[in-house]
Amino acid sequence: MLLPANFRNRNRMKKSITLVASLLLTTSYSLGESTKVPNIVVILADDMGYADVGFNGCKDIPTPNLDALADSGVSFVQGYVSASVCGPSRAGLLTGRYQQRFGCGENAPEEGWPDKPRCRDAGVPKSEQLISELLKPAGYRTGVIGKWHLGIDEPLRPNSRGFDYYYGFLNGAHSFTHANRVWGKHPGLWPIYRNNEPLDYQGYLTDTFTDESVQFIERNKQRPFFLYLSYNAVHAPWQAPANVADKVSHIADKNRRVYAGMLVSMDDGIGRVIKALKDHGVYDNTVVVFLSDNGAPKTSSASSAPLRGFKGDTYEGGTRVPFVMSWPGKIKAGSRYNYPVSALDLAPTIVRLAGAKPAKKGFDGVDLMPFVKGEKSGRPHEVMWFRRDDDYAIRHKDWKLVWNNGSPSGTRKVELFNLADDPNEKTDLISKHPEKAKELQKQFDAWDSKLPDNAWWGGPANRKR
Ligand code: CA
Repeated sequence: MLLPANFRNRNRMKKSITLVASLLLTTSYSLGESTKVPNIVVILADDMGYADVGFNGCKDIPTPNLDALADSGVSFVQGYVSASVCGPSRAGLLTGRYQQRFGCGENAPEEGWPDKPRCRDAGVPKSEQLISELLKPAGYRTGVIGKWHLGIDEPLRPNSRGFDYYYGFLNGAHSFTHANRVWGKHPGLWPIYRNNEPLDYQGYLTDTFTDESVQFIERNKQRPFFLYLSYNAVHAPWQAPANVADKVSHIADKNRRVYAGMLVSMDDGIGRVIKALKDHGVYDNTVVVFLSDNGAPKTSSASSAPLRGFKGDTYEGGTRVPFVMSWPGKIKAGSRYNYPVSALDLAPTIVRLAGAKPAKKGFDGVDLMPFVKGEKSGRPHEVMWFRRDDDYAIRHKDWKLVWNNGSPSGTRKVELFNLADDPNEKTDLISKHPEKAKELQKQFDAWDSKLPDNAWWGGPANRKR
């Protein structure tokens, strides 16, 4: 019988953060060459299911702006994030490296901030380089608007990580309608910041993040810019704005209707961002990416169906997400790309487009442009690895070995699927193909054995041990 990969105690080890001196990257870029490099806009949804968008078949929630974005570029049929929960997924996305390499395999602890010392160094260590830190030396103006979730203490905040501009909140979840200027007991009301200044807040956060993004585009239209728009829609709390009620009134289930309202508000906002790019004459030279940071939670009205599983586990429903990329005239409009791609591919793709220098430690992702342009055939990835605490999966071509322990779908058995025949992971082939399972287990263990422990103690699975 196959046993799950080792259960090393990968926590409790306080990982000191190596403070790296300021980046010394040089570049040949100059402002006079600004038309040669595209602007980059990465829009990230929070906890949105694979099936919650029209271009993936959603019928009840109208997403005309996301569908138009997909129609203008390529949609990835098998687009994955590198983690099934928020913080690790974002760490992978912004570094282009498996986040387990640098101890970010689980959400950072927030409870007790700012009094608990363990919270202070919990985030992406400064020994890693984010997209913003790579693009800034190449002449890009960089902004992040929305949810950060990559470190609360000041050395780990956006303005310390290559972002010229920041508007948003630092932790993992937030009220859409209220915030306090001082840190209190309720993380959902922690401050909204502009750069390092906490603000008074009134409004609906999705609309505010859209407004901020439109203004960022207007301010920076003359230069290459990188905008990372990180909506906390459609994550809890379940607060929909009144101004979209008529667009979702046909949905009978109340919880789904509220969720749909939050999603429609984000879709409206994405439409406004695209319009701003067009109004300012920069749309044709802007790459726009949209994806969700993880799949649908079991506890929400989001849907990854018919994919199996939920946010937090390593079945497809946890890590396969809506994922599109648009670049007018460069990426074929309305195309669908079928081989698996990863959010880890965004950093190397963007860095190449920007003419910036790659991360000193390299990338686990690959430049997607040659694949979506048809210049390269074959798979961008032969193998993809997933790990969160005790849960893991490895995908080799279309074979996938899965183990889920404490996650929402904690079946506690090793399973083998062939996703080409069985994309919804219904038929366990482990008894039929034991040699294939052993091969994948060995491959996973070899990768896993080189990883450090998580840099902090946190997360439900860890607490059980
Ligand atoms: Ca999330």
